[in-house]
Amino acid sequence: MKYVIGNLKMNILSPSDRERYFKMLKSELIGKKFKNLKVILCPSPVHLESFANNLAGKNVHIGAQDVFWEKSGSYTSEVSAWMVKNLQAEYTIIGHSERRKYFGETSAMDNLKIKAALKAGLVVIYCIGELREQRDNDLEADILSIQLEEGLKNIPAGKLEKIIIAYEPVWAVGTDVIPKSNEVMEAKIIIKKILTGMYGQKNGLKTAILYGGSVKHKNAEQLCIEPGMDGVLVGRESLNPHEFIKIAQIIDQ
Ligand code: PEP
Repeated sequence: MKYVIGNLKMNILSPSDRERYFKMLKSELIGKKFKNLKVILCPSPVHLESFANNLAGKNVHIGAQDVFWEKSGSYTSEVSAWMVKNLQAEYTIIGHSERRKYFGETSAMDNLKIKAALKAGLVVIYCIGELREQRDNDLEADILSIQLEEGLKNIPAGKLEKIIIAYEPVWAVGTDVIPKSNEVMEAKIIIKKILTGMYGQKNGLKTAILYGGSVKHKNAEQLCIEPGMDGVLVGRESLNPHEFIKIAQIIDQ
C-alpha cells in the first residue's frame, strides 16, 4: 500500500474557501480510481468534521495535523486524539518540523502524543528529519536515530503497523530545495536499519516510510518512485487539488 498525504496546515480560512476546495477536489476525483494508494487529507481541526462529511464515499481518508497527549481536561486550546477520532479522523500527523520549530516540541513529547493517538485508535504519521546544518555535519543518521528511539520509546512491535514514518528533511520543507534521489534512498535505509535494530528484522521492515518536503508532480518520481518510498507527505501542493491528485496518480503508477 502506498500513501499520498496532504498536510493543509493553517489554511482554508472560511467556509466558502472550504466549499471551493471541495468542489475542485471532487471534480479532480471524477473517474479516477487508485489501485494501491490511500489518499489522506489533514485539515485544521476546525474543518475535520466538514471534511469527513463532504468527502465520505470519495475514497479520501481524513487525518489531523497534531493531537495532544491527554484525553480531556484543562488544557486550553489543545485537541485530543479522542476528539479527532470522534470526528471520523483515522490518522494524525505527529512531530511535524513546524511543531518542533515553533512550539518547542521534542521527540519525548511526541512519544506521549503517539501513545495517546494509538490508544485512541488513530494511525500515526510520525515526522522525522534533520536540519541543514546537521546534514552538513553528517549527523543525519544520529538525528534520525534519536528521533525514532525517543519518539517510539516503549511502543511495542505490535503497534508498528499503526505507525507510518515520514522522512522530512527540514531543509526541504517549504523551501523548494530538494534532496537527490539517492539521498532519500540513503535516509530510507538508515531508518529501516534503526527500526530493525529497535524491533528486529521481521517487525522493523514492516513500517511504511514516506518522503516529505517540496513534493510536486514534477519531482514525485525522483523523490518517491526512484528511491522506493512508500508514498509522500505533501504540504503546499495539497492546497491545489489538481496538483495533489496528479501527484497521487504518479505515486500509484
Ligand atoms: C510539510 O509541511 O510536511 C511539507 C512537506 O511541506 P511542503 O510540501 O510545502 O514542503
